[in-house]
Amino acid sequence: MILLNPGPVTLSARVRAALTKPDLCHREPEFFELQDAIRSRLLDVYELEPAAYAATLLSGSGTAAVEAMIASLVPKGGKLLIVENGVYGERITRIARTYGIDTETLHFQWGEEISMPEFMNRLEKLPGDSSVAVVHHETTTGRLNNIQSLGEACKARGIRVLVDGVSSFGAEEINFTDWGISACAATANKCLHGVPGAAFVILNRALLADSHARSHYFDLANYCRAQDSQGTPFTPAIPAFYALDEALKEFEDAGGWQARHRLYAARMNEITEHLESLGITALLDSGDSSLVLRAYDLPAGTSYEYLHDALKSRGFVIYAGQGQLARKMFRVSLMGEVTPHDLKRLKQAFSDAIR
Ligand SMILES: *Cc1c(COP(=O)(O)O)cnc(C)c1O
Repeated sequence: MILLNPGPVTLSARVRAALTKPDLCHREPEFFELQDAIRSRLLDVYELEPAAYAATLLSGSGTAAVEAMIASLVPKGGKLLIVENGVYGERITRIARTYGIDTETLHFQWGEEISMPEFMNRLEKLPGDSSVAVVHHETTTGRLNNIQSLGEACKARGIRVLVDGVSSFGAEEINFTDWGISACAATANKCLHGVPGAAFVILNRALLADSHARSHYFDLANYCRAQDSQGTPFTPAIPAFYALDEALKEFEDAGGWQARHRLYAARMNEITEHLESLGITALLDSGDSSLVLRAYDLPAGTSYEYLHDALKSRGFVIYAGQGQLARKMFRVSLMGEVTPHDLKRLKQAFSDAIR
């Protein structure tokens, strides 16, 4: 079965094999070697300096990393402006409100572009100790948000920018320094091709000067301090760490994020062209969409359930739209181990299902 949902992904043989490496105690040097290797490889993805940035590892899904980032890095008493244009931006708002953080939202319809004039208008009214949270790739619709313009504007005003990069890290450009990205939460099991259970936050070390933790388990500064001195506060998901380490080696061998970006682009073009030939159009223009996932309009008279089942019986799992989009569209993500042969079979499966 080939998974075309936005994580977890179909594993390569070498990542799958890493899951069965030897049992390990998380208080032994072998574990700390593994942890150090992963942290350093994660910084290498975007060529970040270990003196300025830290990769902080967590056990949990992508939301755990987003939650840890919000619960730990918004200054106490400071405001958080959340930019919403999909499910995941709205999730950040729910997380922040759960912790009693003083929030404001700049809301757009799902799939709509973030308007920079509207953002600037809100940014100018924010007090100096405020933070901004935004999703990079809104997986709800495939929209790739322009975190460069938004980040640069925040950087110029000394405002922290907290990014949900869960479905873009490793495949889309993220220039932490120039774009003023203070922290970015992501996971092992999307563009990096690991398994669920390991997640992380890349953060600017300057943010750790004061503790703002509102949660004991999700205190990022605590994780970072422990990991910096070859420790870990709690029992980590060791098999998921093994798999992430192997996935990162595979990622480096393949040529890093730029190579993955090109690979996804080629896959996505091939499938989008084929779907267009069957009369199925993409929801967003290619310039607005990520390369990781695209949303397509369901053809008239075809239900999602029919299309899903027809493809599943041919070995492929596609993904439904969320909320109000569930009846109108379907999504295809092309992360993970997908061979040219699989793509050929996928095109045939779509043709068979639609005709
Ligand atoms: C997948 C995803 C998440 C996290 O989902 P989990 O189910 O917790 O892994 C968060 N944000 C975005 C943008 C995502 O695509």
